[in-house]
Amino acid sequence: MFKSTYLIDVFAALSKRYADQPEFLQAVEEFFCSIDFIVDKDPRIKQDAIVERIVEPERIIKFRVSWVDDSGKVQVNRAMRVQFNSAIGPYKGGIRFNPNVNESIIKFLGFEQTFKNSLTGLPMGGAKGGSDFDPEGKSDNEIMRFCQNYILELYRHIGPRMDVPAGDLGVGAREIGYMYGMYKRIENEFSGTFTSKGIESGGSLGRAEATGYGLCYFVEEMLSTFKNETFKGKRVIISGSGKVGSMAAEKVIELGGKVVGMSDISGVIHDEAGIDVKLIKRLSQSNTIIMDKYRTYRPEAIFSTDTKAIWKIPCDIAMPCATQNEIYLDSAKDLVANGCWLVAEGANMPTTIDATKYLLDHGVLFAPGKAANAGGVAVSGLEMAQNAMFMNWTFKEIDEKLHEIMKNIFKMCHDASLKYTGKPDNIVVGANIAGFQKVYVAMLQQGV
Ligand code: NDP
Repeated sequence: MFKSTYLIDVFAALSKRYADQPEFLQAVEEFFCSIDFIVDKDPRIKQDAIVERIVEPERIIKFRVSWVDDSGKVQVNRAMRVQFNSAIGPYKGGIRFNPNVNESIIKFLGFEQTFKNSLTGLPMGGAKGGSDFDPEGKSDNEIMRFCQNYILELYRHIGPRMDVPAGDLGVGAREIGYMYGMYKRIENEFSGTFTSKGIESGGSLGRAEATGYGLCYFVEEMLSTFKNETFKGKRVIISGSGKVGSMAAEKVIELGGKVVGMSDISGVIHDEAGIDVKLIKRLSQSNTIIMDKYRTYRPEAIFSTDTKAIWKIPCDIAMPCATQNEIYLDSAKDLVANGCWLVAEGANMPTTIDATKYLLDHGVLFAPGKAANAGGVAVSGLEMAQNAMFMNWTFKEIDEKLHEIMKNIFKMCHDASLKYTGKPDNIVVGANIAGFQKVYVAMLQQGV
């Protein structure tokens, strides 16, 4: 917990006001534990109510999305966009389609996005959006009709200098294509209002790989700085096998590591021979639930329907890449007991506060999502730059820029950790402080 009475008072008021928003309060609490190191050192923070302001979104837009399913029945979903903070640039953050989407989850994501975007060094504010629409089992036409109706409302709140959405859980290039297509029809302009677009629609090479690859580049920095090591020969487990997880797995293998476990919502595959990532990617093109199918091609692999079973597989490195709160205290204990010594978050907030504390207390190196998974939004920033300049960089150029950005983010976190905690390896504190500093100084510069 934090010691600053200023933070204690702000958090007490926030907890009362948003008692029904546990994920949002969790993200704020974790952030306050870190900025506790600096908040009382700069009197302007309290004087200008920076903390009170930074925890309230600048704007929340809530709307209804009505659409017609394939049987001709009208369906109704709820949707929102949380424009959290625009101090350092236009709002930027993904769109999530998942039945559990609610204000608490979108607010926690928008809050974290503000500091993540700041860490990239690019001029992007923080936002997040989503809907409780469940893409699972929907036809291509149903997805298209939903996306089009979603944009019929959202279009008036976004724009290349205002708010630039991208994908997230349940939203990939197909959904972005349908949304961008509708936006373009309404606005009659071809501008970079969405990122993660298909390449032919103005997307950037390397965007699809960026979050997973960036995560591995960040881990490479941790391995070499703290252990004088590389990925070579390391046993790695990765939860989720979507956009982030599959690309992280691909890069781990390229860098000499061995992925021994992966998962999706249907369960976990443990393959001692090393997961066949090409097979995972091939299966995911035609199936939504792929782990069970994997067994038919690799009968020696062990399958479990318990998604938490992944954290029991002996490993050196664990990369949670599925969703928030996947690693609770019991799974953190399993990880430590089974030899894991580095956890890197590909997903947003996949580790609970007490699980994170347990891992840190047991000497596990820990890379928080807002730093380690920032590669995706960083390349989205590069996509915006390419769209604005009407030119394209090659995959190699993007990958080099991504690598540089991830190295730089690691350095910022490392240096802030050393400066404020006296130790270089508290990357959680380092990331929060380094991300916060640019945002709060910009807020001070811009007045109340
Ligand atoms: P996808 O929808 O592409 O993939 C999500 C994967 O996680 C799927 O394999 C899904 O399984 C699995 N999954 C979801 N819930 C669970 C669960 N409870 N247990 C086990 N597996 C589960 O999403 P992304 O890969 O884009 O996003 C994953 C995470 O990374 C999210 O937290 C997102 O916010 C974060 N992130 C994403 C970025 C990006 O560029 N895409 C950037 C930064 C962060 P199934 O397919 O069976 O549902």
